[in-house]
Amino acid sequence: MLKMPKVFRLAKAASVHSNHRRYKMGCVIISNGKPVSVGFNSYKNHTITRKFHGSQTIHAELAALLPLKFKKIKHGIAVVFRQDKEGNPRMARPCSVCQKILASYGIKDYIYTTNGGFSKEHNEI
Ligand SMILES: [Zn+2]
Repeated sequence: MLKMPKVFRLAKAASVHSNHRRYKMGCVIISNGKPVSVGFNSYKNHTITRKFHGSQTIHAELAALLPLKFKKIKHGIAVVFRQDKEGNPRMARPCSVCQKILASYGIKDYIYTTNGGFSKEHNEI
């Protein structure tokens, strides 16, 4: 089994709280090398989800960002984790909507699980 970077540990711990039937995602927001917030996806009817995603699911990234009250995150990294029932990492790249929301907080770097591994990305949008 592939060794996952330590940074995923907290995101994984958050993901188990998800009430989503198929996709249990966890997200940690890192600022200046320290975790400042965690979140997981869930079914919840929230004005902000309807506005941004047009659905009733709060994505893990958004759940982690909401408590931060729209303040700018310095040297921010979004860490997103998902695994399947067997415990294998699965694709958790932030969707285009979450990328825009993350960018509004000044977060352009992501680390996320992929099918069988993980990836890092810097996104200027
Ligand atoms: Zn999303």
